[in-house]
Amino acid sequence: MNPSRSDAREPWDWPVTRLPGVGQERARLLARLGIQTVEDLLLHRPRRYEDRRRFCRIAELQPGEPALVRGRVMATGLRSFRGRSRCVYELILEDGSARLHCRWWNMPFLEGRFSIGDELVLYGKVRTINPPTMDHPEAELVEGVEESFIHLDRLTPIYPLTERLTQRWLRARIWHVLNHWPPQWPDSLAHGRLPANWQHLPTRAQAIRWLHFPDQIEQTEWARQRLALDEFLAWHQALWERRQRFQQVAIALPCSGDHNRLIKPFLTHLGFTLTEAQTRVLRQIRADLGGRWPMRRLLQGDVGSGKTVVAACAALMTIESGYATALMAPTEILAEQHYAQFRRWFDPLDVPVWLYTSRRKTGPAHRPVTAFTPERTRRVAGPPVPAGLHVGTHALLHEQVEIPRLGLVIIDEQHKFGVSQRELLVRKGRFPHLLIMTATPIPRTLGLTLYGDLDVSVLDDLPPGRKPVRTLVRSSAQLKEVWEMVRAELTRGHQAYVVCPRIEESNASAVRAVRKEHAVVQTALQPYPVGLLHGKLPAHEKDRVMEAFRSGAFAVLVSTPVIEVGVDVPRATVMVILNAESFGLAQLHQLRGRIGRGGQPGLCILVSDASAPEAQNRLRVLEESADGFAIAEADLRLRGPGELLGQQQSGLPRLRFGDLIRDLPLIELAKRLVRETQSASLQRTRPERPK
Ligand code: ADP
Ligand code: MG
Repeated sequence: MNPSRSDAREPWDWPVTRLPGVGQERARLLARLGIQTVEDLLLHRPRRYEDRRRFCRIAELQPGEPALVRGRVMATGLRSFRGRSRCVYELILEDGSARLHCRWWNMPFLEGRFSIGDELVLYGKVRTINPPTMDHPEAELVEGVEESFIHLDRLTPIYPLTERLTQRWLRARIWHVLNHWPPQWPDSLAHGRLPANWQHLPTRAQAIRWLHFPDQIEQTEWARQRLALDEFLAWHQALWERRQRFQQVAIALPCSGDHNRLIKPFLTHLGFTLTEAQTRVLRQIRADLGGRWPMRRLLQGDVGSGKTVVAACAALMTIESGYATALMAPTEILAEQHYAQFRRWFDPLDVPVWLYTSRRKTGPAHRPVTAFTPERTRRVAGPPVPAGLHVGTHALLHEQVEIPRLGLVIIDEQHKFGVSQRELLVRKGRFPHLLIMTATPIPRTLGLTLYGDLDVSVLDDLPPGRKPVRTLVRSSAQLKEVWEMVRAELTRGHQAYVVCPRIEESNASAVRAVRKEHAVVQTALQPYPVGLLHGKLPAHEKDRVMEAFRSGAFAVLVSTPVIEVGVDVPRATVMVILNAESFGLAQLHQLRGRIGRGGQPGLCILVSDASAPEAQNRLRVLEESADGFAIAEADLRLRGPGELLGQQQSGLPRLRFGDLIRDLPLIELAKRLVRETQSASLQRTRPERPK
């Protein structure tokens, strides 16, 4: 191995088989760990470190505390019992202070692994000290003295392994690479560019060394941070390049409106004034719609923060300019609701609204150009279609749906859609503007990672008069009391939701369970009429139930979480959520946002029998906090990004070192560094962008 020899590929790209001591067989085992190149090997992250400069004397072991001991094997053997179906491998270790009894259950292949007289390093917890006994400790053989500076007398890395690879072997390979090659690992970042509070971060080469062979334990975290920063830099660089490519080909349609011809009457008849946040966001959107590149904007706002009005104004600006808007919602119920709402708002303005769902396509027939359609439209061949609003579900994506002069795409409740669906809709036009709306507050780390190529607006105040929803956690033993609270609301003429757990809705037995729950609620709340809504109902039946609830014909709606997003029934003031522990916090927060919308205070009762303290604590977060962002952060900490994002996680980078829960400062730093470098290099090559 001679890395200075000229080679088509750089040494860190070499396959591991070019390293001494790594043949085909070992390479196959390494591949199972995801290690194929020298770089993969060097980035193989230890799962912990052992301080082998100090060992614990066996006589001083404390029960329950993990400890590292070193000694010689006095006896070993495998014992079978229960007619040979079970076995235990036992070993006695002696270190001059006492003897330690070690046991490994049902691992017959250990027989013969260690011999009397072998020297071992053992890491584990003693269960009892009379006599000292460890079950399933990790054991490593001390072989000879020649390599003790790699494996002993230091902070020693312990790696994730696969069967038939040993710590010693892997550690020696990494040591060898690090000590026989000049440290010319490519470094994406000049150290001088790090801000003052990050000066403790090492170079990449130093980080790789510290990752495996640190002198002090703090160095391992600094190394992790540096390698994580590199991952975030690469990610943001890729996002930046994607955005650059887009801006080179995309021509923005001028959609910023026409002297408020439609918006002004719209706002006058709205019945309320926009909040400060809504006004600020609309100013940002208007600038985007008139900008040089198509808008790519994410609008985050807690449940009830009033995103729909913002969407309406953005649509009207576009329509004023003579272009159409498409609005995609994740469920039929929500699409229908938007359709009804926008008809109420837009009919008086003479702006056409169409609806597309899998079973219904409705709206005005294509009419001759009306007064507000500007000149441009007349140049389109065929009968001109007035610019209007096309509302729909996924049905909008259907290839037969054509939206002429598509200027703006709005996606409601983005977390319900994948990125590919959003792209499909965008491709119906020629670089339309894109506004993505979400009420699932995304923790900043995930937002920056997933949406790093988008501009972000936040609706951070709620419309006036909104009362926070009081939230209580109860057990099913207290259900009687719960139904009494619901009844008290019903007698005041209010309405209630009862939400059954998240279930596989295609499953017939689950539907039976919801029906049963419906019967229980009917009995408990007699004589109030109780509706039932679940995903298995035919669409027209869903409509009928939803409409009956909206009109007040049903006082109570028993439902699966299909009502989760966007549904607006102002008189609903109370919500009972059964088996609440089966939901994520953000989802519960979203659900309870359905109530207390009509100026009446809302009450949400989470029913849960989960006895685990974690589950209880999780639900308490909702009792205490009404801040969607704080809740999302808690959810991220408690459940991790995969659970939190569901299908969206496919958009996340694979991270070996970066941590989406803890690394917000590093992610922000990476974004800033990429922006600085790129805009500096752009300024050298391009004339300045006109404002
Ligand atoms: P979300 O952000 O969850 O989609 P909506 O757009 O459905 O919220 O708005 C929730 C409710 O608040 C609606 O009934 C809407 O009419 C009302 N609303 C929106 N903006 C305001 C405002 N500025 N003042 C008063 N009420 C508002
Ligand atoms: Mg909404």
